[in-house]
Amino acid sequence: MKKYTHAWLAFMAIKRLQETKLSTTNRKYANNLIRWFKNHKDGVTQGAWYPDSVIKDMANSHVLKLTPSDESPNRFKLLPITYLNYQYGKCSPLRNKSFTVEKDDNLPDRCESIAHSVIDNLKMQESENKGSPVSPTDNQIALLLFMLSHYVADAHMPFHCDSRRFSEGKNIHAYIEGKWDNMIRRYYKIDKGNERFFYDPDGYPLRNPGIEQEYQLSFLKSVDEELHKRKFILSWGARNNNVWDFMSAICQYSYLLSHRFIPEQFNHTNVTLTNWQSLGSISFKDFSVAIFSDAIDSIARVWFRVWRRYLKWERKQRAEK
Ligand SMILES: [Zn+2]
Repeated sequence: MKKYTHAWLAFMAIKRLQETKLSTTNRKYANNLIRWFKNHKDGVTQGAWYPDSVIKDMANSHVLKLTPSDESPNRFKLLPITYLNYQYGKCSPLRNKSFTVEKDDNLPDRCESIAHSVIDNLKMQESENKGSPVSPTDNQIALLLFMLSHYVADAHMPFHCDSRRFSEGKNIHAYIEGKWDNMIRRYYKIDKGNERFFYDPDGYPLRNPGIEQEYQLSFLKSVDEELHKRKFILSWGARNNNVWDFMSAICQYSYLLSHRFIPEQFNHTNVTLTNWQSLGSISFKDFSVAIFSDAIDSIARVWFRVWRRYLKWERKQRAEK
């Protein structure tokens, strides 16, 4: 995914946390995160793009590539039932088949390790006096949090989880990601000089009022509708215990979604810029809605659970003092 797509997904994850129903205690945790995010939102575009612009670990850490195999079947992980990629994947014939994973790919590990770093840094900051030479700054923590959203979002891009080489040939991978980014840059007002969105009164990306009618028909509008009717589930999904398990499950269903959009007999040599939309059993719009709404849900879940873990720790510290 590209720069403004990553930033937009991060904003929408916070919006989801703001609008969803939560218990009183969880609402307090969520509000703390939302407040914190809004104080740092000018850095989201740069921060969520950092893994691509500076870290550049795309080859192995932004991907977990799966290949169908004839070994005895793997047991697929589970996801919260509200996930569209899960609903599409559940009935995929490939789900009864085995798969192998490229041995150097490590996207779920990357997500798990950054999640730990965010919590560690928050704890260090809380434990140190102001001016301490080992105390991390708010900006450093914000950057880690925004980077985390990048890796979580990347796992939802099906071609990041499919070993077929869609960045070669007609490079359908970059083509589709470019389409998404163009759409976001068209429907929202961007402050180009400062590399960020203009904001609406609630602090979220401001929509471009000139093309409201066109927006109403867009897949971004469908993403919004999908999330409004979808219950926000805090759980990682049955049998998943942590960020790693959850992100591994996401990658498995992204792989199934990729094959649903582009069936097995196709690869970079025969997918063209004219046939790419008509090969599978799912439309490009449904494919995009699933990816975006699931990605927003996942960023919201991972961020919320990381933040809550820290706040629970902080509360305990205070009680012990
Ligand atoms: Zn990436």
